Amino acid sequence: MSYLNNEYDIIVVGAGHAGCEAAIACAKLGAKVLFATLNIDNIALMPCNPAVGGPAKSTLVREIDALGGVMGEVTDATYIQMKVLNSSKGPAVRALRAQSDKKEYMIFMRNIIESNENIHLRQACISEIIVKDGRIIGAIDEFGIEYRCRAIVLTTGTSLNGRIFVGLTDYPAGRLGEAPALGLSESLNKHGIITKKLKTGTPPRVDSRTIDYSKMIIQPGMKKLHTSHSDQIDRLENKFHAILQEQTNLRTKLSRQTSINLRCIKV
Ligand SMILES: Cc1cc2nc3c(=O)[nH]c(=O)nc-3n(C[C@H](O)[C@H](O)[C@H](O)COP(=O)(O)OP(=O)(O)OC[C@H]3O[C@@H](n4cnc5c(N)ncnc54)[C@H](O)[C@@H]3O)c2cc1C
Repeated sequence: MSYLNNEYDIIVVGAGHAGCEAAIACAKLGAKVLFATLNIDNIALMPCNPAVGGPAKSTLVREIDALGGVMGEVTDATYIQMKVLNSSKGPAVRALRAQSDKKEYMIFMRNIIESNENIHLRQACISEIIVKDGRIIGAIDEFGIEYRCRAIVLTTGTSLNGRIFVGLTDYPAGRLGEAPALGLSESLNKHGIITKKLKTGTPPRVDSRTIDYSKMIIQPGMKKLHTSHSDQIDRLENKFHAILQEQTNLRTKLSRQTSINLRCIKV
């Protein structure tokens, strides 16, 4: 049983990094956008490393910026450290990498989204696509609410039928603390779109009180760098941090390797 909620030009599913750019791009072109996501408090969440840019990816951030996207702008306003990696090597392998304050990044991005009149943000899990005569004409959420549209952009990250593996345990989840997105994979499969799983990993979170900082190598950031074209945007507040590099040893490496192998065997 479903009922019609509203009609949009575009539905963007998932307010991660790709979804934010998609929704803003569509809205800038004048489209009326439904922006549906599992949890509106997790817009533009960085699930692990808060890095933007780096080898191979800094070019992408610049390209997004050149196309009118906002990732660079949000990074420039919220970074805690920025530097050119490989600066001692040739220009071909240098890469600009910023580390952002995770929470500030999310708040800044959410503010951009909520300030855009063409974007209708909604906390909803899209669980089904509606197809008529071979064309997508809408979507339905987990409560049976139906939204009509002319096109859908799916930017669902790791959430579709997601599972989390911790050691030998595994359970259904989107990201840590988030429910998995159920239903959409089956709906896509029914219409001939094949979905597959990819694996992602995250390092353990360590208690700062257990770290011997005197054994770590300090990597300071560089001043006055920008990931976006605009040199008008400066860091909101002076909250810069150095990055501390730790060096692993064979024992740590082997224990990590063993847990990965065990996980692979279980899958
Ligand atoms: C634990 C972990 C660690 C990671 N570490 C790194 C890292 O260090 N570096 C790196 O570059 N990448 C890392 N990744 C990969 C990371 O997912 C991507 O870099 C980045 O977040 C992808 O952006 P995205 O917009 O494609 O997807 P996401 O950021 O995952 O966003 C997807 C969004 O879609 C929403 N969604 C999904 N399905 C539905 C639905 N049916 N209806 C409504 N909303 C839906 C989700 O709630 C989420 O908000 C990591 C991922 C995980 C899970």
